[in-house]
Amino acid sequence: MSGVRSKINDKFEFPERIDMAPYHVDYLKDRDQPPNPDLYELVGVLVHSGTAESGHYYSYIKERPANSMIHQSWVEFNDMDVSKFDFGSIPDQCFGGPHESGPYSSRYPKVFSAYMLFYERVDPMNASEESQISTSWGVPAKCPVPTELQSQINSNNSAWLRTYCMFDPAHATFSRQLLEQLRIVTNGICSDDHKTEKEAIWLSLDHLERILSRSKDCPHFSKMLGPLQKVIGSCSTCCNLTLEWVVDHKHALRNLLLRVPTASVRKDFGNIILMALQYLREAEPRWYGFQDSDEVDHPSSNRELQQGATFTSIVAGLEELWTSLWMYHRGWDDYFGLLVGMANLGMHETHKLMQYGFLQYCFEMLVVESCKEPWTRNLHYTNYVRYVEKARKYPMGKLIELLAVLIGRTDLKKDPVRRMQDRRLNMGGMVMTKDEDDLMMFSSGFPRSKRICVFLEKALNTDHNPQATAKIVRHLALAEEELGIVEFIQRTIQSGINVDPACLAEPWLISAIAFLECTPSETGAKRMIDNIATEVDTIGYSGGREHLDFFAQARRITSYRSTISRGFFNRCVLHAAPQWAPALLLFWEEPIRGATLDLLKSLVFNHDTTQMDDEEYADSIEAAGRNLQVACVRKCSNMVQLQKTIDSRLVEQVQEVIDHCKAYYHAEDDRDKAFIAETDSK
Ligand SMILES: [Zn+2]
Repeated sequence: MSGVRSKINDKFEFPERIDMAPYHVDYLKDRDQPPNPDLYELVGVLVHSGTAESGHYYSYIKERPANSMIHQSWVEFNDMDVSKFDFGSIPDQCFGGPHESGPYSSRYPKVFSAYMLFYERVDPMNASEESQISTSWGVPAKCPVPTELQSQINSNNSAWLRTYCMFDPAHATFSRQLLEQLRIVTNGICSDDHKTEKEAIWLSLDHLERILSRSKDCPHFSKMLGPLQKVIGSCSTCCNLTLEWVVDHKHALRNLLLRVPTASVRKDFGNIILMALQYLREAEPRWYGFQDSDEVDHPSSNRELQQGATFTSIVAGLEELWTSLWMYHRGWDDYFGLLVGMANLGMHETHKLMQYGFLQYCFEMLVVESCKEPWTRNLHYTNYVRYVEKARKYPMGKLIELLAVLIGRTDLKKDPVRRMQDRRLNMGGMVMTKDEDDLMMFSSGFPRSKRICVFLEKALNTDHNPQATAKIVRHLALAEEELGIVEFIQRTIQSGINVDPACLAEPWLISAIAFLECTPSETGAKRMIDNIATEVDTIGYSGGREHLDFFAQARRITSYRSTISRGFFNRCVLHAAPQWAPALLLFWEEPIRGATLDLLKSLVFNHDTTQMDDEEYADSIEAAGRNLQVACVRKCSNMVQLQKTIDSRLVEQVQEVIDHCKAYYHAEDDRDKAFIAETDSK
């Protein structure tokens, strides 16, 4: 007993006709009497294909009444497929046993064989056939069909025919030409009621969504774009009709922006919506949402975009997709890309996006993985986190960009409002809500002095958009110091500098530059540069270029703050040179060693210290030079101890630096003399 069910596929033949007489009780009782023939004829075979665990049933049925003039007719019924069947194939199709021809011949048994046989007594059958043939039904027999069934068959057939035609390439051409020739018959002018135009535009868009966007490579989709752009960009009513279609077809918005697998379709569709919005904003501000057409020209107007108008309706449609966003990671950049474009249209639009919750949503998405707050019980966030844990990659680049645009238009100096409805449009910068503020300041780490900003850490960690993240950092660092944000941000950025491999520090270094540009505190800035300089010694074989770029950029920073003196950053980088330079001068890649030497030349060596006006600066150059030499010598001797022999090419640049640095030692000073002698010997 194996407990495994199995199907018997052995060969089993059965006859077309069978005489049951020898099995009759009468005959079995008295075998001396010759039996009266009692013939039965095969009229149906039910076939099972598959295994004992799973499979499929279909049947072969004899057509009755048969037209006896022709040979008998059989029909195969297999789900929706009904087709003629050659009775001569019965042994091959129904007897089971091994395959007799084809690739599986005789090696494997067939998995399909008769499962149940239907025989009908010949005499009554013949009588019934004869009676049917004499009726008006004819041969093959056609039964009268009930009206209801007939109309269902008709509608099925016509639906099938329509689907068939929809997929005909000529239909794509037809719907494109509807757009192309829309105004040809009317001498280039749209009709007053726009009835025809609406039908043509909506039909094309329907076709675009249902058929063209789903075909492989979507060749017809891109062909449709040109005519569509032309229609949108030349008549505000046609433009609005296009946007109305989007508002009216929520599933289409989801399908075309998030769901379709072809990236170009999602992107193009987002661009079409944005283009239409831009056009309508200029051409028909009232439909777009401005109460007064003057408001577009006077951007200081504080009246919000109207509810129910086109822009707001599109925002509402996009907001509805939020809860299912976790299902469509492919379309994230297209969805958020469209929102970025919409936010960039202006302050009115930014305000509307904030009112629909998008600022809060962006924060939520970035902190949700580390947050156990009640709102994470929302099913869509739970699903999102589950997929992230399963290693699904969600592109965050455009989401971070949207956050950067929205944060950039907030005024952090204003106290947050309690409810979303309390936030008024303000051209000088919108206030945050309490919830948004909490999410922005949401932190991890303990104790308080070590807490870091979760949303920023996540944005930096994903590394999907370092430039947009740096923009966020800039805005936050420009907030006033007493708000406690600056210190918080600095700590967050510094927390990510020490990573392995060191190349992963790049987004953090880019944000560090942004932070330095905006921080109000010289002490903080100096601490950050020193901190990063110290980390360079640990980079190993990765990074290098990113770190060098940081110091090259940092020394040239012009602060947004008037309180930070000119040349301050140059002095910081100079002062930290003994920390960051030696490891880069001895880096395994020659271009990095060379570039480090070049940077040091312009930073330290190419100054004539005797003629420098700023005495303090001259002193700091001299100090840096001396310290640099000590650090280089120490680094070299550490390397010698570790590796015994060192390729001479590796030390070319450091040798040059050491030689240069000798200039900062005074030949008459005994201690300096001793030091120079010592380094030479090494
Ligand atoms: Zn028009």
